[in-house]
Parts: sequence; structure tokens; C-alpha cells
Amino acid sequence: MALRFFNTLAREIEDFHPAEPPLVRIYTCGPTVYNFAHIGNFRAYVFEDLLQRHLEFRGHRVVRVMNLTDVDDKTIRGCRAAGLPLGEFTAPFKAAFFEDLEALRIKRAAHFPEATDPVHIRRMIEMISVLVEKGHAYRAEDGSVYFRIRTFPAYGHLAHFPLDQLRDGVRVRNDEYEKENVGDFALWKARSPEDGDVAWASPWGEGRPGWHIECSAMATGILGPEIDIHCGGEDNIFPHHEAEIAQSECVTGRRFVRLWMHCRHLQVEGSKMAKSAGNFFTLRDLAERGWSGREVRFALLAVRYREPLNFTLDGLAAARSSLQRIDAWRQRLAETAGQALPLEVPGEGFAEALDDDLNISAALGFLFDTLRATNRRMDDGTLPAGEAAGWLVWLDGIDTVLAIQHGEGGIPEAVAALLKEREAARAAKDWASSDVLRDRILQEGWIVKDTKTGQKTTPAP
Ligand code: AMP
Ligand code: ZN
Repeated sequence: MALRFFNTLAREIEDFHPAEPPLVRIYTCGPTVYNFAHIGNFRAYVFEDLLQRHLEFRGHRVVRVMNLTDVDDKTIRGCRAAGLPLGEFTAPFKAAFFEDLEALRIKRAAHFPEATDPVHIRRMIEMISVLVEKGHAYRAEDGSVYFRIRTFPAYGHLAHFPLDQLRDGVRVRNDEYEKENVGDFALWKARSPEDGDVAWASPWGEGRPGWHIECSAMATGILGPEIDIHCGGEDNIFPHHEAEIAQSECVTGRRFVRLWMHCRHLQVEGSKMAKSAGNFFTLRDLAERGWSGREVRFALLAVRYREPLNFTLDGLAAARSSLQRIDAWRQRLAETAGQALPLEVPGEGFAEALDDDLNISAALGFLFDTLRATNRRMDDGTLPAGEAAGWLVWLDGIDTVLAIQHGEGGIPEAVAALLKEREAARAAKDWASSDVLRDRILQEGWIVKDTKTGQKTTPAP
């Protein structure tokens, strides 16, 4: 069966046909690096990671690009407030972002282009020049350049907005921007005093690119004029992605994107995430409260990307206990399997659920049904060793998509390090340290027992 995904543009589920299978070109809008990314952003990135991993599981070769927006109104405001050059201001947030990706086990994209890279700035200016030449864009009196939306009849299709009026209609004189039409958006923003020294030379005078053209330039510059899948959070649909389509298609004359996928926004404790509401979490905040990257990953992953997801601390606790069940299951399967050769097991249901527009709830349902049924048979002693070995192989296979298991041997690295330390303490007959380490291992969710053959660990129930 073909893979099927919901296309925001068509508003329906479609069979997936990349232009040049098995290659799949994906562009994902990345973070604006003026702050630490929050867990709402990470819902989008975890969803995109699941998409990539499942496509790869199905034999596709994915080339994914994720941009870093390192120049826009927010980054400029931030660097001015901090009294730092733009690059110095954004550098630590870029570094933090990569650390967070790793903690959440999000596969690195093939390219992480930065908007301020001179190669991309040049391409942005080139694209704007083409748009001006073709009559799709105009320079306003202040030196800013705007896209003329009435020249692109498809403008508004992605968002399903009745934009005809806006597109064709009333010319609005906007004092601030001198735009021909309120809906026209900036491709190039003329340098203003608030920009400080953040400016590039262009045929229209000094200034900086608009956010939308940044993505069009990086996407088409790296992946070419046609992209198989473009993703983002639902807030990106309008105006950002609508503008990306208009700019790119007016320059290249080709269909920019075959499949548009957007995840629903993450809610936190039932409402919109906001600093003022006290429900604004970064991954760092959660780590300080004792939640691991894989627990946060699981909590974000476990709800299908198009469903609303309400992120709560209870939800994290549920993620923790689900993961502990999987850990315990793996350990039990390994004990039952011994050295037996793995048998083929009927595990297709998991991947088939993901084929259906990443139906992760059904996929995890399959996993937990399997876990329950085999646990029951292990209770009875009726699960053959070869079958247990087969489920272990299966679990490792689906974990290339889920990425939620512990490291090798099922024991997390942090616990393995503590075990080693404890072994040394015991060898030195330092019983006090040994006890302290036992408690620390327990805090990590593992019970350690001392046997004749050494320490033995099991996940805490
Ligand atoms: P930004 O840094 O605001 O440009 O956002 C980066 C990515 O995170 C974009 O794809 C956004 O659509 C996405 N995003 C932002 N807030 C949320 C949220 N609360 N839930 C899900 N995705 C979000
Ligand atoms: Zn973008």
C-alpha cells in the first residue's frame, strides 16, 4: 500500500508520490534563533523527525533541509537589547538548538542553512530582482520592496482564505509602508534606524530580506525548484508558506511543493503557551525538573501530528511509565530469548499504521497490544525463545522510527556510568559510596541487585 498523507493544500489525504523516488526532498522551517526553542517548536520538529524516519523505514532516501532564521525583527530587537552584534547574539541560541535536537533524538537535517550566509543573501536578492523584473514586485518610496499579490491568482489557496477581495480589490494607502495593497508583503526591508548595523547592500538600497524570501531562497537554492514535502507548524500556513509559494513559483515557473504538511499547535496545560501564563517550557526547563529528552520526545510523539496535543506534566508522567513498560518488556524478552535464533513475527501493523498519515496512536496501540499479549505468554511460560528473539529484532527495527529505546543493552548511558562507578566502589569495599550510588541509580529509574556474578539491573516498576 502506498504511503498516504494529508495535504494542507488539497485538504485531503493523498497517495504520496515524490518526484524522483526513492529520493524525497523535504524542507522544514526551522527556529528563529532569538531565544531557546520551546516545546511547541519541538512538537513540529519531532513530527518532522517521525516523518523522515518512517519514510526511511519504507526505503526512501530523505534529504531534509532545516533553515535557521538568524535575521528578522525578533533577532534584531534581541541583539540591540543585548548590545551585541547580531551573529554574537544568535550564536548561543544556535548551539543550544543543536543540543536540544540531540537530546530529543531528532535526526540532523542534511543541511542547516542560515539566512545570513552570504550565499543565501545573494540568492534572496537575485530572486527579488527577478520578481521586480517580471512585475510581481515593486519598490516603495522608502526603498522597501513588496510582492504584488494581485499578480499571483493562487495567493490564498494554501490557507483556504477568500483572499480574492484582498488580492484584486481596493488599493489601500498604508502610511507606514506605502504598499499598493494591504496584503502585499515585504521582500526587502529598507534599512531603518532600529536595524542598527544589520544591513546588506542591494539594488534597492541598504536593507535586509523579509522572512518569507529567506525560506524560498534557501529551499530552492539547496533542493531545487520542486520540493516533495514542505512542513511546519500550522501558524506557518499564512502568511509565511502562502508567501513562499507565491515568490518561488513566480521566479521558477514550476510547482514549488508537492505536499504540504502542518502540525497542530501544542497547547500547554490546556492553554496557549505564554511566558505570562507560566506555562512556557523549554527543554532545559523540563530537564531541570528531572524529565529526560526521551520522555519529552515520547510525550510529543505519541499524539498524531494533526490532532490537538495538550502538553501536561501528567502527560510526561504517562510517557515515563510507557517507556518503563517498554524497557521492562525488552529486558524480559531478552531473558526469554537467550541465544535463540529470531523467528519471523507478525509485526507489520506498526508500520502500516504510520503509512496512514503517520497514525502514531494506532502504531503505538499495536506496540502495546503486542507487549501485553507476549507478557501474558511469558507469565505462562508459553512464549518460545525464538519468538521472543523475533520480537526483540522487531522492536529494534521499529525503534529506528520511534527512537525511544535506551542505548545498547537497554541501559541508558548515565546508568551504565553509575554502575561502573559503583562496581569500583564495591571493589574498594567503599560500602557507603556503593549505597549512595544505588540510590542515584534508583533515581534514574533502575534497580540494582548484587549477585554472585556482579551487579544486575532492572527497570524500576
Ligand atoms: P519559529 O521559531 O516561531 O519560527 O517557529 C519554528 C517552528 O515551530 C515553526 O514550524 C512553527 O510553526 C513551529 N511552532 C511554533 N510554535 C508552535 C506550537 N505551539 N506548536 C507547534 N509548533 C509550533
Ligand atoms: Zn520558513
